[in-house]
Amino acid sequence: MSTVSIAQKQEMNHIWHDIIANLKGLSVEDVYNRYVGGAMRVRGNKGYVRCWHADGDTDRHPSGVLYLAENRCWCFRCGQGGSTIDLVMQTLNIDFKETVGMMSADFGISLPGNSREEREQAQQAARERTVRRELESRFKEKENNIYQKLATLHRAIDRKIAGIKTVEDLERVGGLYHVKPVLEQVLETLRTGTTAERLAVLKSESVRRWCKWQ
Ligand SMILES: [Zn+2]
Repeated sequence: MSTVSIAQKQEMNHIWHDIIANLKGLSVEDVYNRYVGGAMRVRGNKGYVRCWHADGDTDRHPSGVLYLAENRCWCFRCGQGGSTIDLVMQTLNIDFKETVGMMSADFGISLPGNSREEREQAQQAARERTVRRELESRFKEKENNIYQKLATLHRAIDRKIAGIKTVEDLERVGGLYHVKPVLEQVLETLRTGTTAERLAVLKSESVRRWCKWQ
């Protein structure tokens, strides 16, 4: 009969602790997209989604909130939520152990029994994900601020253009006719563009200038 030493037991506990911490540290948005999917409206650090519980697709208004910075979730329709692990357990209606096994496999996190090297690689990958997510979260917040500024500017330009009544008015603010479509193009890119396209737009000279206008 083989015996497991206390040191080995402690080692195993550490590993499980790390795995669970890694899974809870996964981006709640990535976890949602992989296991639930569907429309998400992001506002600041919150993603509004439909209920992910049983018959959640009958939820006509988004009752669920993903807290993107904390990687937690809550469904106001069911009064349930929690960590990324809870999200998957509730979505698929499976137990903790099965959920941890599945998520670890899907996100490349090694379970105990794998080699030390594999575990270290998985931990390194998890650390890199954390850094990337922090950067993305900061980028999103900044992007959101700029978008709000530009949208406000767009409304102001609309009002000015609507107020043009005389030739003198036109001479004074008519240049805005040229600004408006360019600004609209930028807003469209920020709404629907790829990360690279959005980044290019955010760095552009005109966006910097527009943001200083207010
Ligand atoms: Zn729900």
